Amino acid sequence: MRSSQLRFLAKPRLPYLQNAPTIRTFSISQCRAILTTEMSEKQLGAIQVNRARLWRDLHATCEWGKGERWGDGPTDIGMSRLALSDSDKQARDWFVETTKDLGCEVEIDEMGKIFAIRPGRDNSRPPTYAGSHLDTQPTGGRYDGILGVHAGIEALRTMRENDIETEYPTGVINWTNEGARFPILMVASGVWASAISLQKAYSLPSVSDSETQKYALEKIKYLGSLPAKHKINPIGAHFELHIEQGPILESSGGKIGAVEGVQAYKWFTITVKGRDCHTGTTDFGNRSDALLCAAKLILHSHNRAAEKGCLASTGILGLKPGSTNTVPGFVTFSLDIRSRDDGQLRELENVLKEIARGEDVGGVNERGVKGRGCSVEWRLDTDSPATKFHEDCVRCVEESAKSLVGVEDGIQVQIMTSGAGHDRRVFILHFLPLPANFLSSVYTARHAPTSMIFVPCRDGVSHNPAEYCSPEDCGNGAQVLLGAMLRYDRLLAQRKN
Ligand SMILES: [Zn+2]
Repeated sequence: MRSSQLRFLAKPRLPYLQNAPTIRTFSISQCRAILTTEMSEKQLGAIQVNRARLWRDLHATCEWGKGERWGDGPTDIGMSRLALSDSDKQARDWFVETTKDLGCEVEIDEMGKIFAIRPGRDNSRPPTYAGSHLDTQPTGGRYDGILGVHAGIEALRTMRENDIETEYPTGVINWTNEGARFPILMVASGVWASAISLQKAYSLPSVSDSETQKYALEKIKYLGSLPAKHKINPIGAHFELHIEQGPILESSGGKIGAVEGVQAYKWFTITVKGRDCHTGTTDFGNRSDALLCAAKLILHSHNRAAEKGCLASTGILGLKPGSTNTVPGFVTFSLDIRSRDDGQLRELENVLKEIARGEDVGGVNERGVKGRGCSVEWRLDTDSPATKFHEDCVRCVEESAKSLVGVEDGIQVQIMTSGAGHDRRVFILHFLPLPANFLSSVYTARHAPTSMIFVPCRDGVSHNPAEYCSPEDCGNGAQVLLGAMLRYDRLLAQRKN
């Protein structure tokens, strides 16, 4: 027996759980186990997930909560597995049973999140997790969330089959209600990050019936006792494999996105007040044309955003009084601005506010006739800062993706990058072109090293029964996830020594 085993057995099982009940101790160590620090790049690359098993298991569990059929194939059926429903319970029970069979210790917290933990040699540090969600949208697909959880389990399974002993524990998290049933997205990760209170989460009523989240947790027996707090149940690192839910990878021929962060965004409701007046008897100089003012703001939000590499969009527009021969005196519209950089977003906001005040920024008022001006009110509805994922985690994903290219010749590892001098075969997606509110990783990143791995989904379609990720792409994602977790463990172990 190794000394590490003795040490392990002498300690409580998960000592990093400060206030959690002590559980029996055990060790997965075997004398022939290989440590991550003993593995060369070549050996790491040679450890392969079982792609067929991943595909089979994923679709087997999709029997629980089947949704709309969209094609003729056996798996051409969407999902409707709402959080904490009976079908979600079936998927959860499978998760618990499967991970226990793999030798994991399973913990359930107050939000029903399931933590499956495979011990390492030194369990004083919280686990390196793969995490995502098994629950779905009411008319969702088979890959959003589900793939990330299954790939995590497949990674642990592959570690076990190859007798890999990690330095620190590794695990898989099934988050709760990252989908749609209780109307705060990412509520479980939000509670964990102390961004949402537990009481607020518990009292949320389901959108499909009147059950509260707490009642629904109790009903399916997934109301755990482990505090849902990052300070008490810390995460060592969080890797989330997810379908891209957008078209960039597919359209650029990429295979893997190593995501470096999530863009910042702000949503405004802008109200422009001018004066209603007759279109035939009021000359331009005497008008307070609220729509003209709004139109300038919308056009220049696009122009300035394009200059700064940001995005700007208006999706809602209303005006009064709505008459052909009256200049409108009242307009309200939405403005959604996004950037990878909080500073750039602030600059964009500031320049648009100058334009709103009537200042001639970049010649916006060069042409036409200056009227009497309008008042513009800005109401900030949402402010979500940029999330930068941890560079160690991002690097582990990148290296793992590159290793996949080398191992499986012909698979193009896709990388999106804005930087110069990048390897063309590896495409690094620097920032998610996604609303941040779909991803647990946005919250875990606040308190733990985090990064994400993207794989393409057909036509970028998600939250739709016809969402599709090919067996090859699912397997690539799981392979990169496994490689990233092992590399991260090796990095930590090397730093310790
Ligand atoms: Zn998701």
